[in-house]
Amino acid sequence: MKKIYLDAGHGGADAGAVGANGLYEKNLVLKIQQYLISYLNSMYSDFTIKTSRTTDVFLSLSQRASQANSWGADAFMSIHVNAGGGTGYEDYVYRSASNASKTFQSIVHGQVQPTLLSYNHPNRGRKSANYAVLRLTNMPAVLTEIAFIDRSADAALLQNEAFLKSMGESYAKGIAVYLNLPRRAVPNPSPPPTSTPTPNPSPSEPGTKTYTIKQGDTLYSIAQKYGITVQALQEANKGLSDPLTLQVGKTIVIPSGTSPTPTPTPTPTPPSEQYPLPNGILKQGDSGEAVKQLQRALNAVNFKVGSVDGIYGVQTKDAVRRFQLVYLPYDVDGIYGPQTKSKLAAVLKAKS
Ligand SMILES: [Zn+2]
Repeated sequence: MKKIYLDAGHGGADAGAVGANGLYEKNLVLKIQQYLISYLNSMYSDFTIKTSRTTDVFLSLSQRASQANSWGADAFMSIHVNAGGGTGYEDYVYRSASNASKTFQSIVHGQVQPTLLSYNHPNRGRKSANYAVLRLTNMPAVLTEIAFIDRSADAALLQNEAFLKSMGESYAKGIAVYLNLPRRAVPNPSPPPTSTPTPNPSPSEPGTKTYTIKQGDTLYSIAQKYGITVQALQEANKGLSDPLTLQVGKTIVIPSGTSPTPTPTPTPTPPSEQYPLPNGILKQGDSGEAVKQLQRALNAVNFKVGSVDGIYGVQTKDAVRRFQLVYLPYDVDGIYGPQTKSKLAAVLKAKS
């Protein structure tokens, strides 16, 4: 299990670089970090993530580095936005960086390149500097500077969600390639495009259904509504990579060949009552009736645990982990606790 430490720069009273139109570095880096995390969670496995912050709080530079050090991170990435009159992207390692840091930087740099080209965003190259978070961290560490907030062309890109997403995903790919993370196993490998011949299905096309995303929707809840898999939904809508990117009001395509209405459940009891959820904490090694309750609930929401045997083994842990990857992407540990319970209850309720 590889450990990834992400450091969204600045925060709290420290706004970082500030541009026109209310652009603040401290907010932009959180967005980029979120895209990065979402992509890692949807595409790769066998890692855990720790972040210096996911909210608008201040931490000193040495706090960030010492957290990563004491946790024993395998890779450290600090995410920043530049200022000072230049234009383009650049990344940094410490001035006397280890070879591992340089390799990590080269890989990230290579992964970012296609995004830079497609947005015509200049590449300022691989650099080194005496930055505290790079100097004080013990593991391979890279600091990225996505663009210049005080340059109009760059500021326009910083207001372009597609650019931020693409860069965040490029950072994620760089980390994944460097750490050699395994790709996530998908239940239904994507078939060659024989079943879906149209790359851009039009909403008016006969037999094609559409759905407008509402507040609170997740990929899973929409897929459930139409009795299809999350993967089928993602294949029909290339931009939909994960629940954090669902855009309220956006119309998406529901792949054809599915029943227009959800299969009515014969039982009058709503699933949330049908599947009582245990209290407290359950983890690998636990067993008993509480574990059975959890297993029944996970099966009911299609995070299959196999047989309901009351033993919290590898399969149950994996199902909990898969559930957390979708619904609690900042807290993926394979352990059932209050947060997982409340999310699971909400998903069961949405299903009824
Ligand atoms: Zn910064």
